[in-house]
Amino acid sequence: MHDHPADFEGYDWPVCVTPRCDRKLWASEIGRQSCRPCEDATGTRIAELPGLFRQMNTTASLMRGARRPGGGSTSGSKTPPIPPRLEVLALVGPGGIATRLRDIEDAWRKALGWTVAPWRGSPAQAVPQHTQFLLNNLPWACDAYQSVGQDIDDLRRLHAECTAIVNDERRPGRVQIGLCPIRVDDGLCGQQLTASAASHRVRCGNCGARWETLGEWRELRAAQEAVLAEAAGVAA
Ligand SMILES: [Zn+2]
Ligand SMILES: [Zn+2]
Repeated sequence: MHDHPADFEGYDWPVCVTPRCDRKLWASEIGRQSCRPCEDATGTRIAELPGLFRQMNTTASLMRGARRPGGGSTSGSKTPPIPPRLEVLALVGPGGIATRLRDIEDAWRKALGWTVAPWRGSPAQAVPQHTQFLLNNLPWACDAYQSVGQDIDDLRRLHAECTAIVNDERRPGRVQIGLCPIRVDDGLCGQQLTASAASHRVRCGNCGARWETLGEWRELRAAQEAVLAEAAGVAA
């Protein structure tokens, strides 16, 4: 005896609502929105998001910490910024992970008839709370929330974006933080410097200069900006 759906002519057996899943629901799942494998995979992804956020937030603070206070010159003559990893900043900042999780939470709250948009604080404070809410209510959503397929797909994409960035950073030498500003005999060193979220240590592979603390990071960033300002001055 098995309870896998048989195909009857002229009868469309209910399938999972998740885009591109299309699994036929088992007889014991009839009435549900998504299949159980989709629910399980989504639960795992949600549970991993706070850790992924923390790792990306470390990288983002590393880049922000290097900004020079005061900014030096006033008015329009700004030095070209050293390219930060915009996708990291976008995911940990406003409109990023926290906002995308909040939107899903609010949609579920609305469907449940609950108060929407409870105060959650900064993204770093909000992400664990959103994920806890989503984990607690995922069984309900997969069972009864008609739009859950889109949310499952959004969560899968968000998780994939974060994983790609974090995995990229684990490989050494993948986060580029600008050119080495050290002066050598015939001008600037100019080697592309790299850093990882796991360590504050930056070492130039060409001239051997090292920056190991956040204070030294700020000096590095200031020196890079001075070089860029000089180059901009020459070009102007
Ligand atoms: Zn499914
Ligand atoms: Zn160098």
